[in-house]
Amino acid sequence: MSYDENNIFAKILRGEIPCKKIYEDDFVLSFFDINPQKKIHALVIPKGKYVDLDDFSVNASSVEIVGLLKGINKVAKKLEISVDTGKGYRALANISEHGGQEVPHLHFHLFGGEKVGKMVQ
Ligand code: AMP
Repeated sequence: MSYDENNIFAKILRGEIPCKKIYEDDFVLSFFDINPQKKIHALVIPKGKYVDLDDFSVNASSVEIVGLLKGINKVAKKLEISVDTGKGYRALANISEHGGQEVPHLHFHLFGGEKVGKMVQ
């Protein structure tokens, strides 16, 4: 699947539509999900144009891969849900059709602020 420049997260990255920003650096942008499924529901997206985690794993540079993983940790710390707060959270990426992915720009969901329950419902 080729990257769709008009997906909603591409528009957010270009500043064409607003988001409730949590964190940004050279590699990631993080913002609150518009339809939160848990008390805290954040999204972390790479700045590069990657459709999903498979695309990212194959095509992203090592620097981008490290940047995304470290970005997730920075967001968790900023939201005070990281392991060092004693709380924790779930990081989840939906991948393509069977994974239930709706927006075709790689994103990790971070769920926390409460016990998030069973992994798959
Ligand atoms: P997924 O099903 O993994 O592709 O998840 C896409 C997520 O993006 C959903 O949880 C949506 O609620 C969320 N979403 C869609 N549009 C926006 C938006 N404009 N700002 C923030 N989150 C959004």
